[in-house]
Amino acid sequence: MGELLVVGSVALDSVKTPFGEVDEVVGGSATFFCTAASFFTDVQLVAVVGEDFSSDHLAVLARDRVDLTGLERKPGRTFRWKGEYSYKLNEAKTLDTQLNVFETFHPVIPESYRTPSQLFLANIDPELQMLVLEQVQRPSVVALDTMNFWIEGKIAGLRRVLKEADILIINDGEAQALGDNRNLVQVARIIQSWGPKTLIIKRGEYGVVMFHGGTMFALPAFPLDQLKDPTGAGDAFAGGFMGFLASAPTPDEASLRQAVVYGSVMASFAVQSFSTDRLAAVTQEEIAQRYEAFRELTTF
Ligand code: AMP
Repeated sequence: MGELLVVGSVALDSVKTPFGEVDEVVGGSATFFCTAASFFTDVQLVAVVGEDFSSDHLAVLARDRVDLTGLERKPGRTFRWKGEYSYKLNEAKTLDTQLNVFETFHPVIPESYRTPSQLFLANIDPELQMLVLEQVQRPSVVALDTMNFWIEGKIAGLRRVLKEADILIINDGEAQALGDNRNLVQVARIIQSWGPKTLIIKRGEYGVVMFHGGTMFALPAFPLDQLKDPTGAGDAFAGGFMGFLASAPTPDEASLRQAVVYGSVMASFAVQSFSTDRLAAVTQEEIAQRYEAFRELTTF
């Protein structure tokens, strides 16, 4: 059986929130995804970093169940993202995006990665997402994420990968921009008609809504008394979601719903620190406890 393959960004993030500030810490969509998914399954990473990515940076990515064969090091600087959050933590204000080594990156999928059971195309240039899809044997589940940067800049390429995807995991504001409509139920129908039969809309502190075929499932975010940095919440969600799904016998409705809960569990840990500090240090027992806390929160 193949494994869970992810292609996405590995970044040096500079982030300011009302609770603190960090400069050039390890971030990126693939980083948060792999860290979260590695609690559930083996993960194969495809990404690129520059010469400035140190061994300390690498140590953040290196985990027991994460295969780094597909992490390429190229001449130049690592991708950088700079963002800020106000007290309204739901949306990052991007202050700077430097693609750097991503600008000339053409992912080559290692031989050992070509028969994945599941594929997650994390938030990167949709043309690169397509390049990955073309190099692998069609996995049973293809999921993808994207953001305004690509919706505004690369819509044609994005529509091409969407056509091939089973699941789209996206923020509410981005879903509204993509569907050109404010009503999320209508947006779901529009996007479903373009390809993905399952649409997961992340709504920050308000949680998540999943549209799967004709059904809907909604879950709040876990209410936390302390939160440090929302960066990576979406990717940690995707990692928990896909990681659990990869370990489930079939991606049926019941498994998808459980996967949404595990995704929300991992996102809730991700926001409790900057970078992956809290997420990486979580234990299986803490994951199980928060899963049960979700059950208590939503049972009536
Ligand atoms: P999220 O889970 O949505 O909070 O994603 C946060 C991560 O996305 C940060 O660690 C950034 O490094 C990364 N990121 C921001 N902009 C881009 C972009 N245009 N392409 C790829 N990754 C990005």
